[in-house]
Amino acid sequence: MIIDLRSDTVTKPTPEMLTAIMTAEVGDDVYKEDPTVNVLEKQIADMFGMDQALFFPSGSMANQAAIKLHTQPGEQLIADKYAHVYNYEGGGISFNSGVSCKLIDGYRGMIASDQVEASINPPDFYHSPLTSLVCVENTTNKGGGACYNFEEIVKIRKVCDTYNLGYHLDGARLWNALVANSEKATEYGKVFDTISVCLSKGLGAPMGSVLIGNHKIMQQAIRVRKMLGGGMRQIGYMAAAGLYAVNNNIDRLAEDHRRAKEIGEVLESLSFVSKVEPIDTNIVIFQINDNEEGFITKMEAKGILFYGMGQGKLRFVTHLDYTQEMHTYFLKLLKSLTLK
Ligand SMILES: *Cc1c(COP(=O)(O)O)cnc(C)c1O
Repeated sequence: MIIDLRSDTVTKPTPEMLTAIMTAEVGDDVYKEDPTVNVLEKQIADMFGMDQALFFPSGSMANQAAIKLHTQPGEQLIADKYAHVYNYEGGGISFNSGVSCKLIDGYRGMIASDQVEASINPPDFYHSPLTSLVCVENTTNKGGGACYNFEEIVKIRKVCDTYNLGYHLDGARLWNALVANSEKATEYGKVFDTISVCLSKGLGAPMGSVLIGNHKIMQQAIRVRKMLGGGMRQIGYMAAAGLYAVNNNIDRLAEDHRRAKEIGEVLESLSFVSKVEPIDTNIVIFQINDNEEGFITKMEAKGILFYGMGQGKLRFVTHLDYTQEMHTYFLKLLKSLTLK
């Protein structure tokens, strides 16, 4: 048995999702004639209580489009040093938007409103780039699935209002935060100018992200998506997978969170594990005392796939295709492990 805990992106469509794909009604979405895409966009916009949503092939493209919509070349955005938009989108911020980043040394990928305020360049000091956007991530990826305290998110909004900054949420795993903290999507819709959400992570769709915002900012979104090469034709097949995911796979994220916590508890009890980071959602980050190589080799031999994240950090991610049967087996395996 192979147990793949590398990422929640490794899931494959279930038979039910495949049926939704096979039976989707489609049209040319570049002409906005794909009924299934239109339903998905309307449903997600309504979920967040925002005007408009646009389907993107990837989360990176949705984030990059948002950054383009909020900025002009030469300007600067503020983000945590771990931010996906900065670390894992191929340098897209500078390539697509000609924008630089002021990075904050936050806590587990999360930034605080006072840090944001201190990072803003004075608007009349023309020697420095003009600060125009704040990007936050919830849950954080490199930060180990950490969830913001919603009050902090609101405080950052106030700073953005005071200094006339755009406010974008990279909500690739926002679904996990909503489930873990019993929050409502509409609360997020009220606070942010733009939000991106992924359908292809915990929700289990094969591809797709959605960018959500109000009319004023979203007016140009379809043009930016076209420029980035993200206009797609009969993509309703994939929107159908996304719709199926949104309608069926959100609440069950609680199971992924429970399993992640249980893995964390077992890790805590192992003598060769030196540190387990707090587990808020479906990501477990931990460190091994000294024989990290030994641990990796033993796990590989047992068919357990996972990633090292550098600096001695190792990571397990739970997801839709990590079943209870695998979980039971995996916990037993961990408990029986000895490292010499
Ligand atoms: C996965 C992810 C994205 C988008 O990634 P794609 O692979 O381009 O869909 C964006 N932000 C965060 C935090 C992510 O984890």
